[in-house]
Amino acid sequence: MTPSVGIAKHDGAALTPEQLLRHAEQAMNAAKSTGTGAIRLYDESMDAEAQRRFALDAQLKHALERGEFTVHYQPQLDLASGELYACEALLRWKSARLGPVFPDEFIPLAEENGYILDIGAWVLEQACRDAVTWSERDLSIRGVAVNVSVLQFIQPGFAPLVRDTLARTGLEPGSLELEITESLLAADTQSAVATLTALKAIGVRLSIDDFGTGYSSLSQLKHFPIDRIKIDRAFIRDLHTDSQDAAITDAIIAMAGSLGLRVLAEGVETEEHLERLMAAGCDEIQGYWLGRPQPAEALLEDLERIDALLDRLHRGVRATPIARAS
Ligand code: C2E
Ligand code: CA
Ligand code: CA
Repeated sequence: MTPSVGIAKHDGAALTPEQLLRHAEQAMNAAKSTGTGAIRLYDESMDAEAQRRFALDAQLKHALERGEFTVHYQPQLDLASGELYACEALLRWKSARLGPVFPDEFIPLAEENGYILDIGAWVLEQACRDAVTWSERDLSIRGVAVNVSVLQFIQPGFAPLVRDTLARTGLEPGSLELEITESLLAADTQSAVATLTALKAIGVRLSIDDFGTGYSSLSQLKHFPIDRIKIDRAFIRDLHTDSQDAAITDAIIAMAGSLGLRVLAEGVETEEHLERLMAAGCDEIQGYWLGRPQPAEALLEDLERIDALLDRLHRGVRATPIARAS
């Protein structure tokens, strides 16, 4: 049980019982959004938060049918081969009324209200279509990674949806990776294993996102048929100055290696990060150093720059350039 507690005080102002209860509820919602097991006391800023949520909800409901979403892609590099392991699909929303809204703000709301089911299915389809285009153009991008929310994952129809989307778009199952958060594994182990097994049977790859921020342990991972883990960027940011972050990162890389899992480090922003991770034996990296998330067309134009960057890094080690002459 993980309660979220909201407290409102009657401080003598002319509040009706209904208003007092509403304040308590707003405080509880604020507590919920800060994480599990939090306690918040009502204050006036929560009115503004509540209004923002209300506005977001009203717009989010129609965003898909209004065509307000796009998918951006961020490259992930395989350090050993120097090839692009995959690109991660990251959702972008430009609301006609509210302007651009960050995923960190609207995804939790979409999960709460269930909109993420339709939105997530749309992202999956879009990402598969774009990945088919890359393979047709003979670019050596090995696939696409799509974020899956826990709510999507626990739907009984999720594995069939993935299978149908692959069939419809013509993408090789091995070119699709699904990124799942750690919290899923903690939630309900048995049914999680069943769904993961069904997905593995289809042939897709599975990874654990934001590893290290949840409550699962590396020993738990052996029960799950996953291919890789992504170390959360919180551990990478101060890698070269914070010895604890460095120790955790090294431990994750070493233990994942002995469990036969691949490891990707997120949030690699500098060459210092990169060198430290290469020395630690990390398999893959993703982050601003290599490239920011961008629309599919822009990514393709950016491949030459990425090639030049990797050439400088690897001088001659790489077998094939990423942007092949078309
Ligand atoms: P995530 O899955 O951990 O995605 C990585 C986030 O880190 C992205 O933020 C990306 O833009 C950012 N990032 C990448 N490299 C760097 C770096 O070097 N430095 C820094 N500071 N940040 C970097 P974004 O695109 O804002 O997405 C935030 C979160 O929203 C994602 O975190 C993911 O949990 C969620 N999300 C995005 N798209 C989808 C989607 O289609 N479905 C679902 N369910 N969730 C999504
Ligand atoms: Ca992700
Ligand atoms: Ca992540």
